[in-house]
Amino acid sequence: MALLEIRNLHVSVEGTEILKGIDLSMDTGQVHAIMGPNGSGKSTLAKVLVGDEAYEVTEGQVLFEGEDLLEMDPEVRARVGVFLGFQYPVEIPGVSNTYFLKAAVNAIRKHHGKDEMDAMEFLQLVKERAKTVKLDETLLQRPVNEGFSGGEKKRNEIFHLSVLEPKLAILDETDSGLDIDALRIVADGVNNMRGPERGFLVITHYQRLLNYIVPDVVHVLVDGRIVQTGDKTLAEELERKGYEGYEEAAA
Ligand code: ADP
Ligand code: MG
Ligand code: MG
Repeated sequence: MALLEIRNLHVSVEGTEILKGIDLSMDTGQVHAIMGPNGSGKSTLAKVLVGDEAYEVTEGQVLFEGEDLLEMDPEVRARVGVFLGFQYPVEIPGVSNTYFLKAAVNAIRKHHGKDEMDAMEFLQLVKERAKTVKLDETLLQRPVNEGFSGGEKKRNEIFHLSVLEPKLAILDETDSGLDIDALRIVADGVNNMRGPERGFLVITHYQRLLNYIVPDVVHVLVDGRIVQTGDKTLAEELERKGYEGYEEAAA
């Protein structure tokens, strides 16, 4: 069974169709990259997968481990193991990083019929993971992302990923102009977490990130449609040729 199966997905925003029939099948253990020009619908796809209500699914299906993902509330999607790394991370005033994660971890555990994690055990886990992703320990007690630098936010996103251990991680890095340090933080974090129990959907405008996170499959999204699917060499080809050829064909 596929980890994620998208079938003929059509999505509209305020009456305008943005995604025009997406098909994508991803197995666990894989990294799929979605590349495409600005405005092609990459972030729309990410947001629809996590249940953003601004986006209306007008046709099609999304299955997560065979279950209807679109029927699930956003909270349930998080609990079954879908994670979205935000292009612009949200700040959560008054809620410490550790507290936020503890609530999230326990919600996931509860969903799977497990008891809450022991407080000491949890503290050990966050400290260990903070160390692994080189997150400054002082950031653990600060409100989520509040006043964090750009690099700290990126590191915090990867930190959350490493604590929550989602089955499907969606990273939308489009247009965010990651500097080389942030790029390495994201890439190292993802590469450390690659494994048979997890899949990644890495969304990016630039090929650069994919030099560090080498994808198994690359999809090219233009004007709401996947116009080509291939292996990592497709990303390299796009870097040389750009999207113009596809855009002309779409127009
Ligand atoms: P990408 O991430 O590939 O740059 P987006 O998915 O962000 O593209 O946007 C695709 C198209 O949908 C754009 O034309 C954008 O203006 C439009 N769009 C996306 N989200 C909204 C929204 N919440 N309201 C109105 N239009 C939107
Ligand atoms: Mg269609
Ligand atoms: Mg985007």
